[in-house]
Amino acid sequence: MAKHPEYTNGHEAICACGVEDGGAPLQEKETLIAYHFGEIMRLLGLDLNDPSLQDTPHRVAKMFVRELFIGLDPAKAPGVRLFPNTYGYRQMVVEKDIRVRSVCEHHFVPIIGVAHVAYIPREWVVGLSKLNRIVDYFARRPQVQERLTQQIADFLEAHLHTPDVAVVIDAKHYCVSMRGIQDEASRTLTYAFRGAFEAAETKDTFLRLVGL
Ligand SMILES: [Zn+2]
Repeated sequence: MAKHPEYTNGHEAICACGVEDGGAPLQEKETLIAYHFGEIMRLLGLDLNDPSLQDTPHRVAKMFVRELFIGLDPAKAPGVRLFPNTYGYRQMVVEKDIRVRSVCEHHFVPIIGVAHVAYIPREWVVGLSKLNRIVDYFARRPQVQERLTQQIADFLEAHLHTPDVAVVIDAKHYCVSMRGIQDEASRTLTYAFRGAFEAAETKDTFLRLVGL
């Protein structure tokens, strides 16, 4: 089997350790992923000498590391800038229809949908676009929607200094629409209601505001 030119000598040792080093330098990680993705393409019978395919392994590796799965890098966690709640706002703040683009960790196909996020500020309020960035950070890794929902809620609770947070995710799973049951219409809803949002009235207000 053809070896990647850059790993003709080194590949055996790399594979023997199972490529476990999640902390490998970016460039090295991309080179390794490109090599292994190229092997998958070869196993599928694709001709990597085809000009249209020859750069695909590197393109995929770059896309995995720098875009789709950038949320695996803790250094990329969004900084959360808080402002004192000097105006004494005590109602819920809702950010709705936040775009969710993730990848199903069971099948490596897209999860596409929206998140609706809310919190009730106490001493601090957060810059609104940070809520979008928090959702995006946790979405950009191989995920299951249930855990994604909870990770966002945990992060909000910890960083906004309030126990009163809510998260709803409404998403389409391509592992349901493209394969298996191949149901293109179904969507998955998951939620986390914490603190004041556990009370029926607050929860209902939130759900009404986001149109659910
Ligand atoms: Zn799946």
